[in-house]
This record gives sequence, structure tokens and C-alpha cells, in this order.
Amino acid sequence: MRSTMLDVPLTIGSLTHHGSTVHGRTGSVATLTADGLRRAPYAEVARNAARLAHALRGLGVTADQRVATFMWNNQEHLEAYLAVPSMGAVLHPLNIRLPSDQVAYIANHAEDFVVLVDATLLPAIAPVLPSLTTVRHLVVVGDNAAEAADAVRGKAPGVEVHAYSDLLTGQPDTFDWPDIDERSAAAMCYSSGTTGNPKGVVYSHRSVVLHSMGIALGDALAIGSNDRALPVVPMFHVLAWGIPHACFLVGASLVLPDRFMTPEPLARLVEDERVTLAGAVPSVWGGVLQYLDANPDTDWSSLRDVIVGGSACPRTLMEGFERHGVRILHAWGMTETSPVATVAVPPEYSGGERRWRYRLSQGRLVSLVEARVVTPDGAVAPWNGETVGEVEVRGPWITGSYYGEDASDRFDDGWLRTGDVGHLDADGFLTLTDRAKDVIKSGGEWISSVQLENLLMGHPSVAEASVVGVPDERWGERPLATVVVRTGESVTAEQLRDFLVGQVPRWQLPERWSFVAEVPKTSVGKFDKKVLRQRYAEGDLVVETLTPPARQADAADEE
Ligand code: AMP
Repeated sequence: MRSTMLDVPLTIGSLTHHGSTVHGRTGSVATLTADGLRRAPYAEVARNAARLAHALRGLGVTADQRVATFMWNNQEHLEAYLAVPSMGAVLHPLNIRLPSDQVAYIANHAEDFVVLVDATLLPAIAPVLPSLTTVRHLVVVGDNAAEAADAVRGKAPGVEVHAYSDLLTGQPDTFDWPDIDERSAAAMCYSSGTTGNPKGVVYSHRSVVLHSMGIALGDALAIGSNDRALPVVPMFHVLAWGIPHACFLVGASLVLPDRFMTPEPLARLVEDERVTLAGAVPSVWGGVLQYLDANPDTDWSSLRDVIVGGSACPRTLMEGFERHGVRILHAWGMTETSPVATVAVPPEYSGGERRWRYRLSQGRLVSLVEARVVTPDGAVAPWNGETVGEVEVRGPWITGSYYGEDASDRFDDGWLRTGDVGHLDADGFLTLTDRAKDVIKSGGEWISSVQLENLLMGHPSVAEASVVGVPDERWGERPLATVVVRTGESVTAEQLRDFLVGQVPRWQLPERWSFVAEVPKTSVGKFDKKVLRQRYAEGDLVVETLTPPARQADAADEE
């Protein structure tokens, strides 16, 4: 029997319509500028989105052409988030922090036709322009866009340069959004590519709408129309974790920091705009915590949850924010998973250390996301909270392939191989122990680099710590701990090793230590372990070697 239900496609056009009508007056976006905040209700955002769609049609954007953005988190970026997919084209946010050759590779691979760029980012994109093979239009956004556009005009042969405001002036403020197949492409993002070339993931209208609903659920990020969300996570990084589209869907307001990404403006923005929900990678929140510690009068009472994802959240960060009355909600995902796949909302009955274990895990599977753990010998592990293997996932917002690339080794019988290693417990909580390529394989045993990092970051003198496996004649690999000491503090390698004694088996204690001014970070703010391994291999790190700890064989005795 067929159902009697209407078959209404799930599209970004319908999400835009809902947000701009039902929440058109109460939902709003506020963007930080050098002169304070710029505000627009969602009805106005949608009118601008219609103008932008007309302007893009005028430039020749038809069918599923790619419209890229090279922008901060701001109102115009939100307008592109709505307009481009709703008109049937494909939104492609480019990562503004990648080196020029990678931006060019990605834009050419995606065959971007138009690039919207913030005037303040023109210097960053200018060197890329001559290498772009498919881009025909550059649209400059922001104050003084017309003059800024003049400055690059002619520097990129074959590329026409326009100012966003000129392009939109006089355009109709409604658009007859076409009917779109919900399975067609809405947006694409490239994975940050810590190995090999970045790979493209293409989101469908359906996946974006379902992910928006999924993250708005009570046991996920619980977003409602009374929220004011601050995505610090860039809009070029997995569509800012899906927060902008989810906010438009439910009528929650958005607060966007534009280029003001340092701790002080972020902390003030939360206070001034009474932000209820904010999201970023741990390294951003680490800086904000230092600001809050130094400025304890900052009023963050409006904040319900600080969402941390992208890398494991250290306990010290959670405890630090708790000192200021703010709860951290840990979540896990990846470009390939739209990204939210798990959120660590602890069961109500849990308390004490058990509660901490839930909160520090990567979280519980969000509704409609399925996961399994596959052990190195290919068996599916029981959900017992201890059997470790590679995490595989599937679901309506998980990718099943990569754009224009045969990467069949990344998939396993309809499941995405995440490259993350961990275990699941009986209640669907996922705990990651490492990335498959970061696990330290010492004498046939695995050492979790993440566990060592988190423990080290629990030492009061340590600001940051990153641990990588380095070649070792005897054991194959051994851990190298790279440590950034807090300003004004001092600590030795021996003291740090002694601090770890009792917290991990003795054979896991690192004997190689390096004190550095800063741990290198990737374009999205994660520890860049590839660079650390390379620096070590090239002899660029000053390494202190302590006497090796007890024999590897002690492992069994200790456990
Ligand atoms: P990206 O596609 O750049 O967002 O990177 C995704 C990867 O980041 C995942 O496969 C994980 O290795 C890592 N990641 C994301 N969230 C977390 C988390 N909460 N804890 C540990 N690792 C994480």
C-alpha cells in the first residue's frame, strides 16, 4: 500500500521560505563590524538572497554551476548559503586559510564559475586568481567593495570583477525558486586533506534539511527559535557544522563574528548579544578561556552550551568553562558526515566520574546516524565500551562517495570508513581513542596519542600538548610529546613524565620530549601532526630524551 502523504521535496528553498516568513521578523542575523553590529531580520536576508539569485542568473549561473565563497562568517555569506542552492546551483565555500596552491586545486577540481569574496580577503585570494581555470566572475563583498574591485580588475585575465552591492541594486526582491529534486547537489566542501589531495563531499538538499532537523533535536544541539547562535567555526568548514541552515529552519537568530576571531571580541559578542549557543574547535575555546580567567566579570550567563568538536575536548577545558558557569557540549563528526554524528549529552541518571566519562566521550549517536566498529581483523565489535577498531558510519547525511574521485577504499559495504579509531558502548556512546594514522604502534601494542595529550593538558603548567609517533629502532614507534608551557610557568620533561605515572601504563610514557612556542595547527585549527612528524624527521625540533621507562612487557603486568 502506498501512503497518502504528499511527496514534498526537502529543499533549502523550503527551509528559506519557512525561516523568512514564519520567523521573518523575529529571526535575525547580527554581524560584527569595525563599527559595531550590523543587523537584518530573516525577511530581509531572504529578500537579499532573491536579489543575489537574480544577479547570479545575470552572470550566467544556470543549472548546477558552482558558486564559490571566500568569506568570513557574515550576513552576505548567509545570503549565499540560501540563494545559491535555492536557485539550483551549488554552493562551494572555499577555505580561506589554505595555501594558495590548495585553494586553486580545490576551485579547479570543483570547476567553480563564480567566487564571492570579502573585500578584506582580496589580498589572500589575489595570488590564486591566475591559477583558476574555470572562474569567470569575482564578486567583491563589503564596504569599499567598488574600490577594492577596481584594484584587482585586470589582474586576472578572463575574470570579470563586480561589487556585490552594485550587482544587487535594482534586482527584484523575490525569486521564483525552481522545483528541485531533493537528491540533487546543494553544496560541497572539501575535506581538510591532512593526507593526499583534499576530497570533495557533495551535500544534497535532502541531506542538508535532514541534518538541520537532526542537530536541532533536543538530544543533539537542541536549537529553537529563542536561541541566538554564534558559529565561530568558519562557514567554509563543513557549512559551519550546519548551524546557519539549522537556525534558519527553526527561526533561531545568528550572531556572526566576521573577521573578529580573537578571544576578546568573541567574549564580548557573547556578552553583548546574549548568545545562547556557540561552537568552535578546542584551540579557539582555549584562548577564550584564558580571556575569561583574566576578565572574570564578563557576563556569560546567557550561554546555554558551548559546542566543542573538530578535535577531542580536554577535560581541563570543560572544567575551565565550568568555573565560569558554562557547559561544554562535546560533539564529533567530519566533512563527510555533514558533520554532526554524535553529541555527548549524558543520561540524566549518571553522576560523578561516570557523568564525566559520558561528557568526555565523543557522544551518543544522533538519531538516524548508524555506526559500527570494525576491528583490525575485520570483525564487527560488540557495543561493550572497550573493543576498539575503526569507526564506520552510515545515514541520510553521511557521504557514500567522493566527488570525481574513486576512493572505494574509504567505504566498506555501504558504510563510510571514518579513519577514526574507538569503541561504542551499550547506549550508543562513541569514544575515540585516536585517528587510525595517529595511533602510536609501539611493539605491537597501540598507544593513544589523544589520551596522552589530554592528560598532559591537565597539568597546570601546560598550555598545549601534542603527541605523535616517531620511528624507534626497538619498538617500531614511540611517542614524542611536544609541549607548550603556559606563560610565566616552568616545568621539566621529568616532571611531566612523573605526572603521567599512574595515569597510563608505564610502557606508554613518552621518553622523547620537545618544548615549543606553539603547536603547529591545520587550516581549521587542529594540531597538525603531519608537520610535527616532518619537523622531527628533519631534525627541526630540539628533543630531550629521558631514560626509557620500564620494559614493554610490563604492559600485561600493570593492566
Ligand atoms: P574535518 O573533516 O576537517 O571536520 O575533520 C574530521 C575529523 O576531525 C574526524 O574524523 C576526527 O578525526 C576529528 N574530530 C572531529 N571531532 C572530534 C572530536 N570531538 N574528538 C576527536 N576528534 C574529532
